[in-house]
Amino acid sequence: MNRADLHTHTTASDGVHRPADNVKMAKEAGLAAIAITDHDTVAGIAEAKEAGRSCGVEVVPGVEISTSYEGTEIHVLGYYIDVEDPTLLRRLISQRNVRDARNEGIVARLNELGIPLTMAEVAEAAGREPGMDETIGRPHIAEALVRRGVVATTQEAFDRYLAKGKPGYVDPPPRISPREAFEWIREAGGTAIVAHPGLYRNDSLAEKFLLDGADGLEAYHSDHGPEAERFFRELAEKHGKLATGGSDFHGARKGKIYHGAIGNRTVDVSVLAELRRRSARG
Ligand code: AMP
Ligand code: FE
Ligand code: FE
Ligand code: ZN
Repeated sequence: MNRADLHTHTTASDGVHRPADNVKMAKEAGLAAIAITDHDTVAGIAEAKEAGRSCGVEVVPGVEISTSYEGTEIHVLGYYIDVEDPTLLRRLISQRNVRDARNEGIVARLNELGIPLTMAEVAEAAGREPGMDETIGRPHIAEALVRRGVVATTQEAFDRYLAKGKPGYVDPPPRISPREAFEWIREAGGTAIVAHPGLYRNDSLAEKFLLDGADGLEAYHSDHGPEAERFFRELAEKHGKLATGGSDFHGARKGKIYHGAIGNRTVDVSVLAELRRRSARG
């Protein structure tokens, strides 16, 4: 019981399971700690903390912020952020507004393609009322396409319409830079880590972001092979920065787990102390 999974999603963003359920699954997987890192929201943290207290799993407050660098979407993880920091909360609202505009753009594009999908159907697939703190993402649009019978699975929705380069893909409206996300996280008292650097198909970016103020790299990730994991761990170490890791669990849709199961990638709990030590208020 000395392992931590530092990357999981819940129903507060595009995960399938409630925050409390992720914590219970971490317990069942024999983990000592789990981070909740939803896209552009901290709405799931309070419930997870509560569950963590009752079942004896440490819950690390986190967030995964969507940014863009020279046309590539870069995700930035923030750990031990103050989830009540008013500036952070205001900034995350602006992120969700950008997301909502992008989502509307995708729906408009699908309409042009002859698929009369509505935002109301997407919100229903996500289980959301307008204006909630939880985020709506492409997996919910994919789910809405499944419910309409346009595609058989959410994966098919990505492969045919929603992945970058496909006809339903919409370039996000101006997004913040990774550097701004590092600053937001540090100003909210947290530690900033570049998520899944192996997914950007450009390994020199990771080093650039370390020089730009990131506190570390997510070396261990469900979509990284052993070589990538060694490469990013050594790169982080070379710069005196942290190497973190996690499954990026989202739950299963139609039996298929995208990314990985809870506990699929973990780090030693000593990394938690390192994250705290490097945090702006550590
Ligand atoms: P969004 O932040 O709304 O653009 O949605 C991004 C999320 O969609 C990721 O975190 C994954 O959960 C999912 N996703 C992205 N690309 C794919 C893909 N090619 N196949 C399946 N799911 C994907
Ligand atoms: Fe996601
Ligand atoms: Fe991500
Ligand atoms: Zn993620």
